[in-house]
Amino acid sequence: MIVNEKEIIMIEPDNWHVHPREGWLMPLVIETLIRYGWRSRIVAMGNTKDLIKTGPEAKAYQNKILEIAQQIPGGDHFEPIVAIVVNKHSTVDIIREAVDMGFVTFKLYPKNMTTNSEHGIETSEYMDICRMFEKAKVMTRRLHHGESPNLNVKGIRKEKAYHDIFRLFTANLDGEDVFEHITDADTVEFVKSFPVGRVGATITVHHMLLTQDHILGYHPASKFLMQPHWHNKPTPKFEEDRRALINAATSGDPHFFCGNDDAFHPVSAKECEDVCAGCANTLAALPLLLDIFITAGKTENTEKFCCHNGADFYGYKRNTRTIKILFERSKIASMLYNPAYPFPVDDSSMQVKPFMAGQEVPFTVEYNT
Ligand SMILES: [Zn+2]
Repeated sequence: MIVNEKEIIMIEPDNWHVHPREGWLMPLVIETLIRYGWRSRIVAMGNTKDLIKTGPEAKAYQNKILEIAQQIPGGDHFEPIVAIVVNKHSTVDIIREAVDMGFVTFKLYPKNMTTNSEHGIETSEYMDICRMFEKAKVMTRRLHHGESPNLNVKGIRKEKAYHDIFRLFTANLDGEDVFEHITDADTVEFVKSFPVGRVGATITVHHMLLTQDHILGYHPASKFLMQPHWHNKPTPKFEEDRRALINAATSGDPHFFCGNDDAFHPVSAKECEDVCAGCANTLAALPLLLDIFITAGKTENTEKFCCHNGADFYGYKRNTRTIKILFERSKIASMLYNPAYPFPVDDSSMQVKPFMAGQEVPFTVEYNT
């Protein structure tokens, strides 16, 4: 990484947790990723409305993403790694077929805990899922949305309650397990207790910036009003947890890598009675990450977290292409629109409000392909 007065030149970052979605949102997500610096590898989560449940479905989804990316300047080397959703309907044969096709990454969603997880896993079903992987006798990687689906466990405690479920997989299986989008200081220590390379964790940029108080309207940054566009799951926790996440990410510890959980929803699904969880953080993510690392005095670890640790964990070659970020403030768009209407449309089901909408961030990601 080269830092001078005007600019930062760094290795292109990977993003190990993204929701490319479907329909009109899909080209918008992919174009935004490529435009704002995330033009390398992503893990594409398969919780689309029609879940991605098999190898052939993963292949079709990957092709669709690539087709869109290749039409976008800078998208020529975009590499989506699709995470196949497993639930009680998954079988040993499905797992083997997917692995044969080169799809070794599987996503476990706890039932009803987030977007499109109605067919997710119940507490009592995790053991069977684990046995299925064991019987498949193929090398797999499991990505966990780490929240207990048990309705008796309060939302704020769901991540910690998942530790025991996670241990089922680490105790009985080979391969890798990833604790996705961790939010809790105890989970940071939990992940660290496993050997490097066996267990990893993604950390999102918004979990390093938000707490419960930001979302519920107790923090000055919220203007003391509830912030639906900041609402995401697992819900951000307390200040000490936020600090622990920043320390973990900026330490360079190889257990932790960047996965921003870019989760676009139309404004109509965020400003309503039944508010969906997720932040459209793609535009602001890289400037905010740089700001976090520089403020922590850990600039030298930025590439470990954003570029090296994930690639090493996943067994991919480290990127060599670089990206330029200017020390120039930029303003995040106040609204994104359905790309079929490349002009403002007054229809909230066709709009997405980005994280930090209309606000300034301290850097500008160069895009001059
Ligand atoms: Zn996610």
